Amino acid sequence: MPVRATKRGAERTRFASDAAVDVLICGASFAGLAVARELRASGASVLVVDRYDIGERQTSACAAPTEWLVNLALEDSIRQTFGSLLVHTPQRTARWALPWTFSTFDYRTLCRLLWEQCGDAAFETAKVDGRTGNVVHTDRGDVSAGLIVDALGWRRILGAAASFQPPDAPLSRGLEVHPDGRGADLELWLDRRYVGPGYGWSFPARDELRIGVGSFDPRIHVKDPTLTLAADVSADAVRFQGNWIPHRLRPAVEDGVFFVGDSAGHCLPMTAEGIRPALYFGVACGRELRAVLDGRADVAAALRRYAQFSASHRLAFAWMYAAQRSVRRLHGPAMNGLVRLFGRRAVSYWAFRHYLDIAPPSAAFPAPPIEWSVGRLQADKLTTRPARSGYQSPSATEPARR
Ligand SMILES: Cc1cc2nc3c(=O)[nH]c(=O)nc-3n(C[C@H](O)[C@H](O)[C@H](O)COP(=O)(O)OP(=O)(O)OC[C@H]3O[C@@H](n4cnc5c(N)ncnc54)[C@H](O)[C@@H]3O)c2cc1C
Repeated sequence: MPVRATKRGAERTRFASDAAVDVLICGASFAGLAVARELRASGASVLVVDRYDIGERQTSACAAPTEWLVNLALEDSIRQTFGSLLVHTPQRTARWALPWTFSTFDYRTLCRLLWEQCGDAAFETAKVDGRTGNVVHTDRGDVSAGLIVDALGWRRILGAAASFQPPDAPLSRGLEVHPDGRGADLELWLDRRYVGPGYGWSFPARDELRIGVGSFDPRIHVKDPTLTLAADVSADAVRFQGNWIPHRLRPAVEDGVFFVGDSAGHCLPMTAEGIRPALYFGVACGRELRAVLDGRADVAAALRRYAQFSASHRLAFAWMYAAQRSVRRLHGPAMNGLVRLFGRRAVSYWAFRHYLDIAPPSAAFPAPPIEWSVGRLQADKLTTRPARSGYQSPSATEPARR
C-alpha cells in the first residue's frame, strides 16, 4: 500500500497571507516536475504544490520510451525494458518489433529523481481550488505568482472555462490492477470481449504486473473488463487505480495561465500515452518560463510561443484521434490483418519511428543549467523572497548561488 506522506492536521499550516512567488506550478507529477526542472538555477522563487506528496499517488501503468527516461537522468527508476509489443486479438497473436524500447518504471522513484533535479524549488502539499487573476486559491490559503502553470491533470482546475465533466467530455477511462507477478512481454489485447473502443494491457514491472483496460468511450465502464482480463491471465485483481484520460488537445494557454500535460490534453489519443507528452510539453513550457525569468522574453511572448508550440502538434494528435475512432469498427478480419501487418518489422519500425517523433526524446536536451544548491524555501517564508515584478534578468552582478 502506498504510504501517505501528505501533510495533515497541525502540519497543514496556512501560507503567509501575502505569499508570493515568481512561478507557481500546480501539480507535481510528470508535467509539473518537468516544468520545475527547467527552472532550476534560474534565481527565481519557484513553488510546486500538489494535494499529495511528490510520488505518493501513482497515476498510470508507468511505461514510457526508455530514451526519454535516460535523457532526463531517470534511468534508476526503470524496472523492466521491452523491445517489442505482444498484441492479441481473439484469433491471432503477433509480435510487433519496436525500433526503440519501452520501459516500465517505479513512479515514486521517478518523481524523486525528477524532484532532485529541480534545484531550490519549494514544494508544499495543498489542494488547489481555483484562481482569481494571478492569485491561486488553495486549502492552505492564497498564493500569488507572476507565472502560473496548471499541471493538475484532466480537470484543468485553473482554466477560465467551465471544467470538463465526464462522461460528456472527450475523455477515455482507464482502470488497472497491480498484482505481484512477473512477465517477459508488454502485452496488448484488441478484443471486443474486454472492450470494443479501446484495449487491454499487461505491463510487467519486475515483480509486479500492471493489468488494465482502457475505453475510449467514457460511457463504457471498465471495472468488469479489468477483472475479466486479470482472471484470464491468472492474476489477482488487487491494488486498483484508475483515472480519466483526455484524448483531445485543449488550448495550452488561457487567461495568462500555462497548461501542461493532461490539463492541455497532451495525451496521445489511441495509445493513451501521456507521460512522454507531459514531459515533452513540460520541458517546452519550462523553457518559455525561463526565457521570461532570464529577461529574454516578456510574459505575453512566452504565452504566445508556448501556445503555438502546442498547437503545432495538432495534426499528429488529429491522426491519432482518427485511428482511435476507427478501432471500434475494425474488430474482426480487418483487425487481424492490421495486427499481422504490424508484425512485419519494416511496417512496425516505420510506424513507431513516426510515432516517437511526435514527442522525440532528443527534446530533453540541452538540460537546464545545473543547480548550485541552496536550502529549499519553506511555505512560511514564501514572502522572504519577493517576486520580481517585470521579470527582469537576475542581476549580472548577483553572485552565483551555492
Ligand atoms: C490506468 C491508466 C494507465 C496509464 N498508463 C500509462 C502508461 O503506461 N504510459 C503513459 O505514457 N501514460 C499512461 N497513462 C496516462 C498518464 O497517466 C497521464 O497522461 C499522465 O499521468 C499525465 O501526467 P500529468 O502530469 O499531466 O497529470 P497527472 O499525472 O494526472 O498529475 C496531476 C497531478 O496533479 C495533482 N492534482 C490534481 N488535482 C489537484 C488539486 N485540486 N490540487 C492539488 N493537486 C492536484 C495530482 O495529485 C497529480 O499529482 C495512463 C492513465 C491511466 C488512467
